[in-house]
Amino acid sequence: MPNGMRTLYCITCKGDHPHRPLDADERTRLRKGIGRKYVDDVWVCERHRGDGGPCGTLRTGLNKNPFDGPKKLPDY
Ligand SMILES: [Zn+2]
Repeated sequence: MPNGMRTLYCITCKGDHPHRPLDADERTRLRKGIGRKYVDDVWVCERHRGDGGPCGTLRTGLNKNPFDGPKKLPDY
């Protein structure tokens, strides 16, 4: 697994998969999208779906479902 990655449970994939931290641009967009100031503990699921794209489901280090419903990278 690349540096900085962490294996965490993903509610979309329903299992433990590699997650990466958000980059600066993604954190800025997420802050606006969900109205939270602190998003530095958010991780994104990098598991590749059958159709090729990464899963993109977001979670925090401690909470596998911190938002109202699953939030995905392109959605916020
Ligand atoms: Zn996932």
